[in-house]
Order: sequence, then structure tokens, then C-alpha cells
Amino acid sequence: MDQSFDCWLQNRVDLLKNKGLYRTLHTMNSSPGPEVNVNGENKIVFSSNNYLGLANDNRVKNAASQVAHEFGVGSSGSRLTTGNTKWHARLEERIAQFKQTEAALLFSNGYLANIGVLSSLPEEGDVILSDAFNHASIIDGCRLSKARTIVYKHVDLIDLEQKLMETQKADRRFIVTDGVFSMDGDIAPLDSIMQLAKKYSAYVIVDDAHGTGILGEFGRGTCEYLQVKPDVMIGTLSKAVGTEGGFVAGSKELIDFLINQSRTFIFQTSLPPSVCAASCQSLEVIVQGKQLRNALVTNIWAVTEGLTKIGYRMKGTNTPIIPLIIGDSYKAVKFSQMLHEKGIFAPAIRPPTVPKGESRIRITVTAEHTIEEINQLVDACELIGNELSVIR
Ligand code: PMP
Repeated sequence: MDQSFDCWLQNRVDLLKNKGLYRTLHTMNSSPGPEVNVNGENKIVFSSNNYLGLANDNRVKNAASQVAHEFGVGSSGSRLTTGNTKWHARLEERIAQFKQTEAALLFSNGYLANIGVLSSLPEEGDVILSDAFNHASIIDGCRLSKARTIVYKHVDLIDLEQKLMETQKADRRFIVTDGVFSMDGDIAPLDSIMQLAKKYSAYVIVDDAHGTGILGEFGRGTCEYLQVKPDVMIGTLSKAVGTEGGFVAGSKELIDFLINQSRTFIFQTSLPPSVCAASCQSLEVIVQGKQLRNALVTNIWAVTEGLTKIGYRMKGTNTPIIPLIIGDSYKAVKFSQMLHEKGIFAPAIRPPTVPKGESRIRITVTAEHTIEEINQLVDACELIGNELSVIR
């Protein structure tokens, strides 16, 4: 070895810099909300997943602090040892009610829920059919599974059916998809996917990280919105719910199986009880949160319409995730820097998070943004888009 350890790593980081893929951390110095102090400067945030503003809701914060005083700040063990409290059980009951399933199981976060399900449920001899734009945690879960993974083209039902026809000899087939895709904001055609699954006797797993709290009359998510009941519903509490934690909802048999076989459930310290109490309270707000969801929809339309009017070609996703596709990574970073100079925080999203040549600003809007803040975003995007020749 003629290179020091640090020199070797520096070269690897330099390679990322040369490709416009270098990343740095930003420090948030105030509570989550539309206006946040980022690295010492006040910015309007158009990139958070706190879609309903519940991460800083007084009712939710009070629930957390009360239980923190009663139960302490850490759970001190895994669920199967000393880390199980009435708040874990209560939240699981609440999630099952919310998702209208028999049972639910908590994980430390959505990432580990996806890994826990996909690494344990499909067995050797099975096939997982996975949408090309699925979240990294689904991809990693598939990598850990003993089943074979086949990727189908993004929301392409013809390709999915073709792959279902080609895999009839597999022991079992599992179709896995995001409910709302995290970088594009589009909604998976779950109704058609369920029909295909029925036709070819496949099981369906849906990760509804971004639909939960947002879509459907009661905010139960994409499955409520499209009136479907997949075999496994995965989700996170870290986005619209505003807290922390992942979950799986489904039959009692599914949950019993995961308690016994899912390694990310078995070998993880459980969530702090205070966080579970906060989530219980937040779900209460969500079920009764029609007004919050209406405010969010109004803001989604205001951003989409505003950007369309000034010449951006928008997908019109109906979700708070509104991608501004820039293409080139350097240009996306430049766009984000220019937004920053105009008082707006929305980092560039680059490969491997999105495909090569599709770097973007992933704008997210929340129920809390005001029309003045949205207008400021649109005006900034017009100026920058023209200067960088992004608007054609
Ligand atoms: N699934 C999707 C679709 C996501 O976007 C994310 C978060 N980025 C996760 C899972 C992981 O959830 P968590 O942040 O709770 O780990």
C-alpha cells in the first residue's frame, strides 16, 4: 500500500467533487417550520417532510414531554427484552386502527421497517418485483433478501405484467412499491397493481412513507385514497406525522411473524416511550385533520400553478413533493445556491438518490406555508430559471 488511509479516502471524496456529487451538512438552529434558521441565517424551507407542521405542534410536544418525565428519555432495551412499554403497545393499536388492519408493529424508523420486512418475508425461491424508483431502503431490503429481485420500469404496468408472466415458476411473487414516490411525488397505480397481483397470485407490499397523513379522507394514505388493501403496509412516522419511527401494518399473522423473524425489529433498541406518545397524539390530530389537508392541497396547487405559469413543465402530482428537474448536477447545485441567496432553503438532489441526468430541486410544500412565501419561491424560481436557462 503506497497510500495512507486518509489520502485514499480524500481521493474518493475528490472524485465525488469532480462529478458535482459532493455533499455537506447544514445545521438547523430552530424548530421545524416554514421559516428556519439554517447555518445562522433565516430561510424559508421548501424541502422538509413536515408536511402538516406537526413536528412542532404544541399538543404533540406536550404529549412527548409528559411521557418523557414519567418514563425517561430512552427505552433502554429492545422490545423483546426491557424496551416494551404501554406506549409502544398503545401506538401499535393506534396505527392498526388508523391503517384499518388487524395489527401493527413499530420499528425504529421507516428505513429499518423496509429492511426488516424485505429481508425476512420473501424466501429463497421467491421473486420480488420492485419498482425502479423505489426508495433506497426497499432496494437495500431486497439486497438482503434470499429471494431474487427483478426491477420493473417505474409505474409501468405492462412491464410489471410481463415480468409476472415470466416468473410463474417462482415459489411466490412479491410486488413492492412506494405509495408516493419520494423524489417524483407521483402516486403508484395501486388499484391496477392489486388487480395484476390477484391475476398472477402475487403478494403486494406498499411503503407509504409519503402518503401517510396526506392522502385519503382521513389521511390514512395512498391505500385509502385508491381504496385498496395490500398484504403489507409499511410507513414512517417521520414525515407528515412529524415524529420518528417506522411501522408495518397488516394481519395478526404478519405481525407475529415479524416479531419472531425480522432482525431489524429483534435486534434494535425500541423507540423512546415519549416519542410513541407524541405519535399517538399526532395520529389523533391527523384523523381529524381535514382542514390541515385542505390547506396543504391549496398550497400544492399554488406552487404547481405558479411554476407552470412561469414556464416550468410540472408533473402535477397532487402530493407535497414537487420536483423541479434540472438535469445536470452542477446546475442543480447552482440553482439551490441561488435559491439560498434569495432566502429559500431547498437542497439539490443528485445521483444516486435520483437517476443520472435527472438532478433536481425537490420542492416540498407544507400546510403551514403562506401564499407570500409561495410567491417568493415562484419569483425566485423564475429569476434563477431564466438565468440558468432552465426555463425554456
Ligand atoms: N421510504 C421512503 C419512501 C422514504 O422516502 C423514506 C425517508 N426518506 C423512508 C422510507 C425511510 O423512512 P425513515 O426516515 O423513517 O427512516
